[in-house]
Amino acid sequence: MTEGILEFGRALYINTSDVLTGVVRNNALSTGRSLLQVIWDLRLGREDLVSSPLFPVILSVAFYFSLCTPFMIADIYGKKWKWIQKYKIQTDKEVTLDQVFDTLSLTFWNHVLFILPAAVGQMIWTPPTPLPELAPSWFEFIWQQIASLVVFDFQYFVWHWTHHKVRFLYRHIHSVHHRYHSPFVWVTQYLHPWELVTVGFLTTTNTWFFKCHPMTTWSYMLLSIVVSVEAHIGFDLPFCFNNILPFGMIGGAPKHDMHHLKPQTNFSPFFNHWDKTFDTFCPPMKAGGVRPKNLVEYERRTKEIKKVC
Ligand SMILES: [Zn+2]
Ligand SMILES: [Zn+2]
Repeated sequence: MTEGILEFGRALYINTSDVLTGVVRNNALSTGRSLLQVIWDLRLGREDLVSSPLFPVILSVAFYFSLCTPFMIADIYGKKWKWIQKYKIQTDKEVTLDQVFDTLSLTFWNHVLFILPAAVGQMIWTPPTPLPELAPSWFEFIWQQIASLVVFDFQYFVWHWTHHKVRFLYRHIHSVHHRYHSPFVWVTQYLHPWELVTVGFLTTTNTWFFKCHPMTTWSYMLLSIVVSVEAHIGFDLPFCFNNILPFGMIGGAPKHDMHHLKPQTNFSPFFNHWDKTFDTFCPPMKAGGVRPKNLVEYERRTKEIKKVC
């Protein structure tokens, strides 16, 4: 009798825990799925607009300007705002209105002369984007964006390294971007048209390797903008990727700031592994212009090597 009760209890426990685990898992899956699906379903009734080849162009241009504007306000009007200025990397440099005007002018002309015609060409020659019924799964949505970013990081590392090492390419193309030794937000797209076209081409084609869902492709496009803008904001903010992701795998604004100061170092746009592998990594300055021990040590070693040479 007692054994029978125990057996029944055991069976009840196993069944209940199985059911509960299943319910939790299914709920998690359906909630995860439905959040992306809810966003994806926003297209309903707007299919003509969303499937147009112009849609990603308008989305990314609008996103770029909306993301940059608050940092421009902080640069121009927030010179005395301690809550943000304490995160500035090159504390002795100020952004002037002339610099903002200069960088915005080039950005404007690049958009009018290159991005707009490319968008019109796309509209004429590219068919509308097919829009599947279902959103991608979370797993697919995340891994494909990370993979695209890893691929882009390597492609740009090679492009960037080449455009520093080959004098002709540096002088006629990449030096435009290096006009400013202390980056601020609009320096992100202060680029020679060839660099702008290359970056645009790489960002667009990366997702083709993985046959991404349109939602993943567009999200990756926005993620690339976040990454490139973040690299140029000139602030080491606590919520940026380099401060929230582990193992020092991300360079972020501090590392790219150092690239503008020491242009023969830190060629990777996002991750650190290629620079560490090829010995082009220079430890960055931190918020408030703090020079960490590894940077002091790096500079001491570099001086010694120069003396020997
Ligand atoms: Zn830069
Ligand atoms: Zn460079």
